Amino acid sequence: MHLKIITHDKIVFDEDVDEIYTRGVDGEFGILKGHVPVMSALDIGVTKAIQNNKAKMFTTMGGIFQFKDDNALILTDIAETGDDIDVTRARSAKERAEARLADKQAEIDEKRAESALARAKARLKVALNDGK
Ligand code: ATP
Repeated sequence: MHLKIITHDKIVFDEDVDEIYTRGVDGEFGILKGHVPVMSALDIGVTKAIQNNKAKMFTTMGGIFQFKDDNALILTDIAETGDDIDVTRARSAKERAEARLADKQAEIDEKRAESALARAKARLKVALNDGK
């Protein structure tokens, strides 16, 4: 089966794969060859493609997942590989978001801080490759 990951700027990935795992708004799910058609809204998270028993990981920051006739398409705002990610920056973003969420005094936009935290966690997972 085939997986294509497209952002506003570029085609990030366009290759045959054996398995796909991603995070929809209703939770994580996996797709194997021959799966019935799927159309799902994506959450902020990690998409993992397995090729010859090796995992390739991408952050996928929302968007749409479509699967039909053994072709998967991901349209997402941002899709980063480990090489794209600055770990120090992601760690700072995570700490900042956690501090905002922990500060009960502050008038914060909680949803915004939660999204920032989810982005940072997805980046660290991909960069540190611990989702295998
Ligand atoms: P930060 O607070 O560090 O800016 P953010 O989650 O607010 O993080 P985004 O709005 O998701 O950042 O992304 C804005 C741009 O910055 C995108 O092009 C994204 O790829 C890039 N970017 C964000 N964080 C990182 C990172 N840790 N390493 C590399 N690029 C990053």
